[in-house]
Amino acid sequence: MNNEGMLIVLSGPSGAGKGTVCSKLLEKNTNIALSISYTTRSPRPGEKNGVNYFFTDKENFERMIKEGCFLEWANVYNNYYGTPKKFVEEKIKNGQDVILEIDIQGAKQIKQNWKDAVFIFILPPNLEELKRRIEKRGSETEESLRLRLMCALDELKALSSYDYVIVNDDIDKAVEKLQAIILAEKCRVYRN
Ligand code: 5GP
Repeated sequence: MNNEGMLIVLSGPSGAGKGTVCSKLLEKNTNIALSISYTTRSPRPGEKNGVNYFFTDKENFERMIKEGCFLEWANVYNNYYGTPKKFVEEKIKNGQDVILEIDIQGAKQIKQNWKDAVFIFILPPNLEELKRRIEKRGSETEESLRLRLMCALDELKALSSYDYVIVNDDIDKAVEKLQAIILAEKCRVYRN
């Protein structure tokens, strides 16, 4: 056993509700820090820099890659997304748990370097509901919606390399399940 925090990786198709599940979890758990990613995608209405993402341009993102600023990074739906290395490492070292809300490519990179991270996949109840949730955001173009739905099918193939799966058909129940998983992982004698 050690006093370091735990790294929790949350993935799932766009529209599965990861963001909502995550923010509800954080309201209830003050010892969990959410890693805010860098991205080159434009902010959606209501999104704030430093809250939802650190919004940046391609040039700066590529400079950060070269300087080794990311724990992982990936090109998702034609934009860059990356997890800030320093933030995560410091929190974990100080005993705080950190949650990453990242895609399957990023999770794969984390798996190679963090053997004791916990990998959780969030699923929508079905594809119709997934489509409805993405459309409801009102921020995607028809092309981007199609791309996100196509990627969702592809992402499902990665499910077997995750430790847990949560079907998000009821937000409160999904948060309860996530809390239960984290609690159980904390009670493990050995992690991996
Ligand atoms: P969105 O544009 O809907 O906010 O996010 C698109 C996808 O990028 C989601 O699957 C989200 O989990 C993923 N994502 C967000 N931040 C990161 C990150 O730092 N790294 C990786 N690999 N994926 C991320």
